[in-house]
Amino acid sequence: MILLDGKKTSADIKEEIALDVRELKANDEKTPHLAAIIVGSDGASITYVNAKVKACERVGFESTLIRLPEDTTEEDLLNEIAILNVDNDIDGFIVQLPLPKHIDEQKILMAVDPDKDVDGFHPTNVGKMALNLPTFISATPFGILELLDRYNVETSGKNVVVIGRSHIVGSPMSILLSQKRKVGNATVTITHSRTKNLKEITLQADIIIAALGIPEFLKADMVKDNVTVIDVGITRMADPSKKRGFRLVGDVAFNEVAKKAAYITPVPGGVGPMTIAMLLKNTLLARKRRSK
Ligand code: NAD
Repeated sequence: MILLDGKKTSADIKEEIALDVRELKANDEKTPHLAAIIVGSDGASITYVNAKVKACERVGFESTLIRLPEDTTEEDLLNEIAILNVDNDIDGFIVQLPLPKHIDEQKILMAVDPDKDVDGFHPTNVGKMALNLPTFISATPFGILELLDRYNVETSGKNVVVIGRSHIVGSPMSILLSQKRKVGNATVTITHSRTKNLKEITLQADIIIAALGIPEFLKADMVKDNVTVIDVGITRMADPSKKRGFRLVGDVAFNEVAKKAAYITPVPGGVGPMTIAMLLKNTLLARKRRSK
């Protein structure tokens, strides 16, 4: 079994990005600048957004964190977005999800300038991704492609089963892996909460992408030998033995599945760190596109 080490791979990618930034600076070019808006005080969201800002600092990007209170109106948030859209110093920005219930998430994502949408959530960018045109691929699927690529996991002609059909992971993942691209050309089955006989389907899979958010859902008896398993799930489980009071658990019963797997991602240290690295990569891309 080979561990698909997202922590190490993301560190390599960040080092490559830092090199690019040093080069930009040496040529007196503008440093990439990522802004993030967070509304409210959800603990997990604050952790994620802080990790993104910290990662920017480490690679030499400028970063701006805009923290808005829980009771921010949709109109106020749209105004913040409008400001970032026209701010020439900002190359890309993200609105941390989920948003409070009184704000229409779709309306917010639609308001982001597609050229600054480094999360790749705007319909224009999702459309381009679906058509296999150059665009910002959203960070989690992009990170999974990169991880498979760097470990030379063959996808061409393989049976891939994606569990979960969310707009941010399952759905784009299924599209990307079926496309004619270096990491792609797979025969993809997308499954979800209404899928019948899931085990029969996963047992046919050469590669499984688990993105459903149910801790340790994928068990050893659901996979065949030599499978490749990508575990996207992150659930916080109470754990008094940990200083922060919880541990992160993936969608895969790692210990039992790892025994049968050829390649597998751990949680934590798999897909999570790759997501942040790819957000940085998209921001660098945004900077380079804007200077053209
Ligand atoms: P989601 O929560 O929006 O949707 C879950 C999906 O799983 C749905 O499409 C649903 O149909 C499917 N599903 C639910 N029960 C199922 C079952 N029994 N069998 C088959 N399918 C089932 O999904 P999401 O936002 O993609 O999040 C999934 C998990 O991935 C969560 O744990 C989330 O925290 C994590 N996540 C991690 C990252 C990362 O960077 N590592 C990024 C995004 C999401």
